[in-house]
Amino acid sequence: MSRRRIVTIDGPAGVGKSTVSRMTAVELGFTYLDTGAMYRTVGLYMSEQGVALDDEAGIAARIREVEMELLPATDENSDTRVLLCGEDVSREIRTQDMSMAASQVSSIPEVRTFLTEMQRRYGEKEDIVAEGRDMGTVVFPMAAWKFFLDASPEMRARRRFYQLEEQGETVDFEQLLAQTVERDYNDSHRNIAPLVPAKDAVLISTDAVDAAGVTAQIIRRVLDNSF
Ligand code: C5P
Repeated sequence: MSRRRIVTIDGPAGVGKSTVSRMTAVELGFTYLDTGAMYRTVGLYMSEQGVALDDEAGIAARIREVEMELLPATDENSDTRVLLCGEDVSREIRTQDMSMAASQVSSIPEVRTFLTEMQRRYGEKEDIVAEGRDMGTVVFPMAAWKFFLDASPEMRARRRFYQLEEQGETVDFEQLLAQTVERDYNDSHRNIAPLVPAKDAVLISTDAVDAAGVTAQIIRRVLDNSF
């Protein structure tokens, strides 16, 4: 099979990865792969099944029951839709509770193996923009183009606050900021696939640049580099 063109976009929570990844995918005509949605869906499934999120052995034993299908966003303004065992759970996975649930299940090796396999299958089928925490380091180390976005915790919590508000969820800002810092800590300190930039990733700060500006930087680099 021919080698697919893969762009990876990693970074911490609330850094603007989703918007930038969607815009990049639309512009390049690639498929957008939202891997955070996958971890969220596992968190939702285990919660619905009554498996405690700190029960690593229980989650590991049941991970292969999770039947999910991603229907990637095809424009800049919509989210990836997710079917869990045939049921549309696109809204349920986006709550702040599911952000924390995803972060918890994401440190379990069996969960990561299961989702990494699924993510690589998408990368074999089509050209993708893969968004997550370990796309450039673990899942697609041979990707042609790698980016790592970062911004201050305050800026990221503020973005997330407005995002949740738009979805109709009201949260306390200070608590959200604390949870953002907690999620970053969990994500960057776990033993497997921690959140770190790949050595060959281009680092982009999103503190003072909007999504269109960041996307333009990414597209320029992709096109400059023999695309
Ligand atoms: O990006 P999003 O906020 O949807 O991710 C939710 C959680 O899923 C992250 O905090 C992280 O714990 C986990 N995740 C991961 N690896 C990925 C994508 C997400 O561990 N590639």
